[in-house]
Amino acid sequence: MSGKKLRMTDQRRVILEELEKAHEHLNASDVYERVKKRLPHISLGTVYRNLEILSGERMVKKLDVPSGQKIFDAGMHDHDHIRCIRCGKVDDIPMSPAADLRPVIEQAGSASGYLQTGCVIDFFGICPDCAGKNK
Ligand SMILES: [Zn+2]
Ligand SMILES: [Zn+2]
Repeated sequence: MSGKKLRMTDQRRVILEELEKAHEHLNASDVYERVKKRLPHISLGTVYRNLEILSGERMVKKLDVPSGQKIFDAGMHDHDHIRCIRCGKVDDIPMSPAADLRPVIEQAGSASGYLQTGCVIDFFGICPDCAGKNK
């Protein structure tokens, strides 16, 4: 955590509030649609820039999904995500399967001789909605 205090502008506070209220993962234009109702003059660019700042300050999570769209998540507790390969929806996994993999992840660093700084584990599948459509 950085020691310096982030000055919360009104825009940034509203963006964070809307993201927290959503209880789901939103891309920048979803956030923009919600924020615009409270701040009609805000632009998508401003929303995007503030989301980047918030994720830089680790106040929101930024998830990179293979579709290229960045998805933002206000849930900062340690959790993993699973992505639907049909509709692209991203859900929280209410447990942390990656926590059990920690010894394996650490071994990857020592085995390769790298100073390992990160690891991405990608969970994907077919969400209940999409699976239901098969019936
Ligand atoms: Zn789906
Ligand atoms: Zn999440």
